[in-house]
Amino acid sequence: MNVAQFQNNLIAWYQAEKRDLPWRQNKDAYRIWVSEVMLQQTRVDTVIPYFNRFIEQYPTMADFAAADEEKILKMWEGLGYYSRVRNLHHATRDVVTKYGGIVPADLATMKRLKGVGDYTAGAVLSIAYDLPVPAVDGNVMRVYARLFGIEADTFLPASKKVFEQKVSETIAYDDPSSFNQGLMELGALICTPARPQCLICPVSEHCKAFEQGKTDVLPVKSKKKKAKDQFVVTAVIKNSRGEVLLQKRPEKGLLAGLWEFPSIEVGAAEKQQLGHAQFGMTGMLGFSLVDFRQMVQLKHVFTHLIWHIVGYAAECEAVPEVGSPMQWVSVVDIGGYALPVPHQKVFAAYLQNA
Ligand code: SF4
Repeated sequence: MNVAQFQNNLIAWYQAEKRDLPWRQNKDAYRIWVSEVMLQQTRVDTVIPYFNRFIEQYPTMADFAAADEEKILKMWEGLGYYSRVRNLHHATRDVVTKYGGIVPADLATMKRLKGVGDYTAGAVLSIAYDLPVPAVDGNVMRVYARLFGIEADTFLPASKKVFEQKVSETIAYDDPSSFNQGLMELGALICTPARPQCLICPVSEHCKAFEQGKTDVLPVKSKKKKAKDQFVVTAVIKNSRGEVLLQKRPEKGLLAGLWEFPSIEVGAAEKQQLGHAQFGMTGMLGFSLVDFRQMVQLKHVFTHLIWHIVGYAAECEAVPEVGSPMQWVSVVDIGGYALPVPHQKVFAAYLQNA
């Protein structure tokens, strides 16, 4: 491959065709960092309104670092993968206290920040500071596997190094920002997973997979493990004051720190039926429930896990005492609590049935 020609073709195409995205308005490292964190596992169209609201509320890193975590989780509601924003919050606090609020322009320092891996560090340093650092994610691996005929299994974490090495060898030192963004843009718009548009691709003359007719066999990707099914019973429980019960999830693990309606994992679909569900819920709460009724059934897919949820509504007498991590919350205040999407759906069903 003529590497200089490849770089020129890619950068010229990127400059001419790049989408007008809000985080591309300037080279502010904080904005770029926020956008990169949001874009992990989430589509551009979904991210745009979140990004705009986020920057409106927290225009500078100092604003964000000083913000209350509950408010941040609330703003992130619906984007999923909440540990991303908790880590970002933690990391920006470190940047404010240790580095005077300036994102460090150095790979090793950047990678010491919470939640910042090779990809995020590479993206921020190359886009904001024009440093020639690779930013390799699934999209870039796909593009490089095809361009260079690399057959390393992109499902295996160890393969990432192979791709990072290749990008390091071929990155444009005179414009790493446009080069890395060009690769990302090419992967998003042209060199897509199914049916890449090779006939209009700006770098097709350099591409091994195109030349050898291998675009449908590259990248090599071994099968993912099947996601595990988890059967969950949840209930919106109303007390005599008309308040409902919420519980806070643990500070670590899936959906850490978010609020939800009291829930139990029951092991099998049969155990989600009304009789079992009421028995289990009463046992967990330690007070009796009346008018226990099914409202909704839904499925929520995480990366390695599928929640099958049956949502019930119930009432209880008086106002039973509950301790942390549970609390009674007025229905009108629920909007102020960060709930994961499936529990927002359960609440919507509750309001419809009320
Ligand atoms: Fe991807 Fe086709 Fe372009 Fe090669 S020629 S980089 S396979 S779109």
